Amino acid sequence: MHKAIKIKTGDITKEKVCAIVNAANSSLMGGGGVDGAIHRAGGHAILDACREIRNSRYPDGLPTGQAVATTAGAMDASYVIHTVGPVFGSCGSACETLLASCYTTSLNVALALGCRDIAFPAISTGIYGYPKEEAARIAYQSVKEFLEEGQKITVYFVFHNESDKTVFEKSIQGV
Ligand code: ADP
Repeated sequence: MHKAIKIKTGDITKEKVCAIVNAANSSLMGGGGVDGAIHRAGGHAILDACREIRNSRYPDGLPTGQAVATTAGAMDASYVIHTVGPVFGSCGSACETLLASCYTTSLNVALALGCRDIAFPAISTGIYGYPKEEAARIAYQSVKEFLEEGQKITVYFVFHNESDKTVFEKSIQGV
């Protein structure tokens, strides 16, 4: 395990890190799963900021694999980085590249904001249907390669329950 990668269970909205990542949808207008939890915990300031981003930069929605930052509102984190994971089965072999891009683009956004720590949920593994084992390998590999380039940031993978954490740990063995 790369020493700057930490794996834990919990509610990502409670993380005391510079940036938490939201598994958003392209509308940026909120949704279910972790997206709903983040908007509920952070309050209306997040939705206001997302509306502004839609109006100014992404009138057609945030493309899959891209990431943008907003305030974290009432949460302890300073920023929410919204990224849009691929819907499993909708993009063929490009899905893997798009999921990896969610992680690396979010990391670059966090570094540009001056963050030295970031927490990720298991992007695309809920409503978007990505197999957890495959998503784990892609997530871990993309983050590990990013860190091996010498970037200084601590990365937390936050799982909603113990069994998802166990699946992740098993899936990344040998990666
Ligand atoms: P997606 O639409 O990208 O699949 P989901 O929000 O449906 O996103 O699920 C992504 C992952 O986030 C799932 O593994 C889900 O269990 C997890 N999750 C949901 N709520 C939270 C939370 N509050 N903190 C951390 N992880 C969460």
